[in-house]
Amino acid sequence: MNYLKEYPIKGKVLEFPVFFPDATRAVIRSIDTHDLRRTGVEGVVVNTYHLMAQPGTTVIEQLGGVKLLMNWDGWVASDSGGFQIMSLIQRNRSIGSITDRGVVFHRGTRKKKKYVFTPEKSIEVQFSLGADILVCLDDFTDPRAKEDEIEISVKRTIEWGKRCKDEFLKQVAQRKLDNASRPILIGVIQGGDNKAMREKCARGLLEIGFDGYGFGGWPLDKDGNLDVEIASFTASLSPENLPRFALGVGSPQNILECFRFGYNIFDCVLPTRDARHRRLYVFSEDPEKVDILSLKRLHSYLYILREKYVRDNSPISEHCDCYTCQNYSRAYLHHLFRIEDSLSWRLATIHNLRMYTRLIEMLRGMIT
Ligand SMILES: [Zn+2]
Repeated sequence: MNYLKEYPIKGKVLEFPVFFPDATRAVIRSIDTHDLRRTGVEGVVVNTYHLMAQPGTTVIEQLGGVKLLMNWDGWVASDSGGFQIMSLIQRNRSIGSITDRGVVFHRGTRKKKKYVFTPEKSIEVQFSLGADILVCLDDFTDPRAKEDEIEISVKRTIEWGKRCKDEFLKQVAQRKLDNASRPILIGVIQGGDNKAMREKCARGLLEIGFDGYGFGGWPLDKDGNLDVEIASFTASLSPENLPRFALGVGSPQNILECFRFGYNIFDCVLPTRDARHRRLYVFSEDPEKVDILSLKRLHSYLYILREKYVRDNSPISEHCDCYTCQNYSRAYLHHLFRIEDSLSWRLATIHNLRMYTRLIEMLRGMIT
């Protein structure tokens, strides 16, 4: 299999594969961008919907974009903002609805002001944030959807994709950008677990033409496992020479699997969220000594709050070169979590992110 090694964006080169942790509100909770850089992370994903609400699009644009706001010189991908609103609506139908025009929802408790989030709006906001990688607003296929519902979601995703592309070209022209200075736009392939629908969606999006294609929808099956069949099938539907974004993927094992299918951009809340929940990632063996990627079990979890770590003077992982493992013991981490000091979050987050970036380094080593 030919793996794509890199892709040029805004005069720089994005190396593949790459993992972007989720800096939802323009912050990776508990660490700053200096810490982040030190873990080897090269980019983050920010959340368009949350940033629209706070501090607001115009504020961010006036401050020079999300990178200057965060003091971050790495990559920034922005999501479409649709997933958050749509999942809120799916949980509580009274707050809004999804129509062909866009996502209609009510904001504010008293006034019940109606707000329409359209594909055009999503792209406009993502330009204001100053992201390098933009994602089309798509109609998320509910994993429980029946065939006719999947069909609607695919049809809408293609139509919205076209509107996103039109707005994208408009913004590029308005901002006087050219091919070398513009961000890239990712189309998202929906269709749930229905192969024919995935194919239809991919065909529609390919006709419009995007810089890369994303694996949309919920990536896990009903048992919480990666839907390997659909993930690999969907990857095969988009060109090998363009970025393939496995949206929301995933655990280290899932990243490894998706990389083998040809995906090269990953983003997930897992390493940072797990760190705050005292779940630390440890490679099963020393990655310097064995081919960790060929092992049946890539890593294990270390639950730092267990009693056995009270007097454990060793680092989280002896095979880890992160700032936390170089300087602090399991016993200290255990203590910090016990007293609920915020330093526990920071040190645990640094460790988990470094585990992910080492995995990425190993995957890059597989590309010849
Ligand atoms: Zn570490």
